[in-house]
Amino acid sequence: MLKTLLVLLGLPGSGKGTQGKFLSDKLSLPHISTGDILRKIMSSDSDISREVKEYVSNGMLVSDELMNRLVDNYLGSDDCANGCILDGYPRNIDQLNNILKNQNVEIKFIFFDLNQDIALKRILGRFQCGDCGKLYNKYYSFPINSGRCDNCESENFVFRSDDSENIIKQRFDLYKKETLPMIDLCREKGQFFLVDAGKSEKEVVEQLDKVIEKN
Ligand code: ADP
Repeated sequence: MLKTLLVLLGLPGSGKGTQGKFLSDKLSLPHISTGDILRKIMSSDSDISREVKEYVSNGMLVSDELMNRLVDNYLGSDDCANGCILDGYPRNIDQLNNILKNQNVEIKFIFFDLNQDIALKRILGRFQCGDCGKLYNKYYSFPINSGRCDNCESENFVFRSDDSENIIKQRFDLYKKETLPMIDLCREKGQFFLVDAGKSEKEVVEQLDKVIEKN
């Protein structure tokens, strides 16, 4: 059977994580976020976690060899038997070629189009529940009962250590150098949809609904 891969593309801060979780619930497909997977690896103490930390904390890309292996494992697992939502991968042409080699997948690319200044403000404000992972932003979306997570009532909130201004600039530069040329190629390699990620969360959901319903 053909698996569906929904691949979310866009600048750091363009809302892929937030919308990836919504899409996952709506379509009953797992949300595979390579950033979340790497953060889990970094929370353990091992040689691999130290190596990953070195790259991520400096805003660099983790090696293609490791990333391709991690994603291949997920794609081959029972959880992803019907497909999945890929967020944060592929990030360069080598990684794109790695998923294109899967013959039994139908790939839909969704590009979250956003201006860099807005992305920067979103990143500088974002924080997350340390227990369930729900995302918030100190400028736009605080927990309803401030101090307690809307989802799980935890009082434990965390900021990402790689969300500081100089590291973000480095991540934006890498995005331009490595990811944008790949996105140009994606337009030729699968169905390609663009959403205006500068709109409100709810309006982006509506745009995504249209993409899913029509296709
Ligand atoms: P963002 O999209 O905001 O940059 P992510 O959570 O997707 O955040 O990724 C955080 C960091 O994890 C990246 O800056 C990078 O160091 C590393 N990373 C995530 N995905 C990949 C990937 N596919 N290839 C290499 N490194 C990755």
